[in-house]
Amino acid sequence: MKNFEGFGLNPALGKSLAHMKYTTPTPIQAQAIPLALDGHDIMGTAQTGTGKTAAFAIPLLEKLLTDPRGSALVLTPTRELGKQIMDIMHQLLGPKSPIKTAFIIGGEPMGKQLNQLSARPRLIVGTPGRINDHLERGNIMLHDTHFLVLDETDRMLDMGFSVQLEKIFKFMPNKRQTLMFSATLPKNILKLSEKYLSNPKRVSVGETNVVAQNIKQDVIRIEQDKKYNELVSQLHERNGSVIVFIKTKYGADRMANNLRRDGFTSEALHGDLRQNKRDKVMQNFRKMNFRVLIATDIAARGLDVPHIEHVINYDLPQVAEDFIHRMGRTARAGAEGSAISFVSNQDGRKWHAIERLLNPKAANDKAANDEGVNFRPVRNKNRKPNRAGPGKPNNQANLGNKKRFYRGKKKAAF
Ligand code: AMP
Repeated sequence: MKNFEGFGLNPALGKSLAHMKYTTPTPIQAQAIPLALDGHDIMGTAQTGTGKTAAFAIPLLEKLLTDPRGSALVLTPTRELGKQIMDIMHQLLGPKSPIKTAFIIGGEPMGKQLNQLSARPRLIVGTPGRINDHLERGNIMLHDTHFLVLDETDRMLDMGFSVQLEKIFKFMPNKRQTLMFSATLPKNILKLSEKYLSNPKRVSVGETNVVAQNIKQDVIRIEQDKKYNELVSQLHERNGSVIVFIKTKYGADRMANNLRRDGFTSEALHGDLRQNKRDKVMQNFRKMNFRVLIATDIAARGLDVPHIEHVINYDLPQVAEDFIHRMGRTARAGAEGSAISFVSNQDGRKWHAIERLLNPKAANDKAANDEGVNFRPVRNKNRKPNRAGPGKPNNQANLGNKKRFYRGKKKAAF
């Protein structure tokens, strides 16, 4: 598929696409759009930055434009991601569209949402918790909604939304079209797709557990207390917008303050901020009013800011899959990006999990080699006995072996 015209879309959509300067479908769009237009359920895996929002938004809106009685629901894990989806939907609909929409997310006043809902929206985008609240109060009716999109499904499950999702499905007709997207495909996602999708077509772009090729990655082995100074020197060495990932909300605020004190323009983004503050931070970052965004994982998930040039993993993520999501913040839609990970000597287990996820074979080989180099008879009383048996590699002992880490700074491409 060379351009969007080949899909035979409603002229209003064609006009919006031209206005948005979308001329050629991205690979995930080329795969998913014709299947969805044909009415198939879809199980899609695509990294963020591949154009997956439009991959489901275009067929969804085409259905709404073709069937004046049709309605659709899009479920997404976070408010920010929901807002991005809503923005793309509005751009695709154009300024004069008669199709009404509602944006139903947690943390916003119910009254405003009730107004939107009473206007009989044909498209609802929202987070599972708040949608469920409205369903239980009878503010939303879904018995006639035949088009459902689940975006970043793995994240929704990670965030504990599975009960809410199951409840929402019960309010919807069984005969419907469901498009499910997920960055990773763990067992719980496959189970969910077996249960709620009907003969889904698989679409995927690249390997799921792969970080985009156009990201230059560096690893810096460093002690915890030297990280901040290293961050400052990295920021001096680089140009352009940077997102720094950090573990805690408190840490994010403190770091943004410290960076401002040290002469950088910086803001924090985390789940404790009020919604309008979060929106403002994101707006200012998009407009490049400040340079360094300090974010926690949940707050930053799925954010689409085209100009982020560097990702710095100040703290490694708690969940290895989040490493891939973080990398998806840079090098979007084919641009070049760079990523630096600070790995301290307390990070052995986490780093190993990330390596295994990115490249299972190499990580296993490396682990085997490390065993050869580092394995010593157990002298330390605290070390666990070798459960694998005599002469076999003892993974537990090895993961605790801090000798694998360099002191100070070492850069290595991986
Ligand atoms: P997404 O993966 O949906 O977050 O999209 C990543 C970025 O690619 C966003 O900035 C989109 O606006 C942009 N994008 C999506 N589809 C296209 C397309 N067909 N042509 C140009 N840009 C696109």
